[in-house]
Amino acid sequence: MPGYELFGEEERKEINDVMDTGILMRYGFDGPRKGVWKAKELETAITEVFGCKYAQLTSSGTSALTTAMAALGIGAGDEIIMPAFTFVASFEAVLSVGAIPVMVDIDETLTMDPAAVRAAITPKTKCVMPVHMCGSMANLDALAQICKEHTLILLEDACQSIGASYKGRSLGTIGDAGTFSFDFVKTITCAEGGVVMTNKEDIYIKSDGYTDHGHDHKGVDRGADLHPFLGYNYRISELHAAIGLAQIRKLDGFLSLQKKNYKALRSYLEQVPGIRFRSIPEGGVDSCSFISWFLPTQELTEAVVAELKVQGILAGNFYWFVNNWHYIRKWDHLRQAAALHPMNAEQTAALVKLNTTSFAASDAIMSRCISTAISLVWTEEQIREKGQKMLAVIQKIMQEHLQQA
Ligand SMILES: *Cc1c(COP(=O)(O)O)cnc(C)c1O
Repeated sequence: MPGYELFGEEERKEINDVMDTGILMRYGFDGPRKGVWKAKELETAITEVFGCKYAQLTSSGTSALTTAMAALGIGAGDEIIMPAFTFVASFEAVLSVGAIPVMVDIDETLTMDPAAVRAAITPKTKCVMPVHMCGSMANLDALAQICKEHTLILLEDACQSIGASYKGRSLGTIGDAGTFSFDFVKTITCAEGGVVMTNKEDIYIKSDGYTDHGHDHKGVDRGADLHPFLGYNYRISELHAAIGLAQIRKLDGFLSLQKKNYKALRSYLEQVPGIRFRSIPEGGVDSCSFISWFLPTQELTEAVVAELKVQGILAGNFYWFVNNWHYIRKWDHLRQAAALHPMNAEQTAALVKLNTTSFAASDAIMSRCISTAISLVWTEEQIREKGQKMLAVIQKIMQEHLQQA
């Protein structure tokens, strides 16, 4: 999964280029920076590698989502339909622009169920935001069709799925806009950072201004820039962009290692007849940052997780159902609307309503799902050992349960 596993001389060189000029800011200082523009260079590389017209770097994936929403004109009173399984950042961004998160069930793709999206549409719906969790994707054709029928915005949270594709196009470049995160554990990292990708010029121009206090960036003198709209400071620094530049050049290598290690480990899990794997929409290519697999029942899954822990091999295996960050069941702070500041009444009402909303369809999937993170630096020996140990645990637990039954 994470690019940080393979830091090397390349990252050091890019950082040193910036340190040699001392200009750590991405805008201005045209003379002293001596032609070093790491953020601009990384934006160009992103458009080339992922195949989109425009890319705007930001300080994080969370701020990339907020920026995309603002640029798309999503705000007060607007409902954004999003999945109940995601990272907390997705709803944080929705709340930050004054919009209302409407959580819907997922299916065995581990992303939003198009039928649940249809059922959640109201006159206030403005946007559908699939989150491409754990390296693979939502059924984008089905979601795009729904958006077309109801004139809704399609915003892809592709923060976790750098390098995956759908029908030949990179995730994050298919909707009206899409985002990646480059935080420390993502497929490529800037330490902290994110990007808004779009093929629409006006969304790009708005994103560019929004992330820099609304500056129009039309002149060479920052002080003389006009501010056609309000913005914030969600800028990335040159140091962060420098790391990302070294990382994006190594992405192909990361992805091929990821795929190789995924395949090798999966071959062990495939030996258990009762195990199923997440489904991938037709035309989709998984980035292979995780293997997500299902056991037949919640009881078995809990027992396997407990045994993995006893044997000291739970690390890298995520049982999201009990995890505090990724699944609605444990988002108490969200359901209690525990903001530090007063929230608008519509938002509070929507969050309180989550307490009485059933996510039984998602529970039935998440309670049986384990995602195993794929490392880039595993040796063949380590994969064999990990695979054999996991296999032994699963077989032991399944046998015990068969005997009890
Ligand atoms: C990591 C992540 C984000 C946001 O990323 P940060 O860069 O950590 O702010 C958003 N959505 C999802 C699904 C993520 O995994």
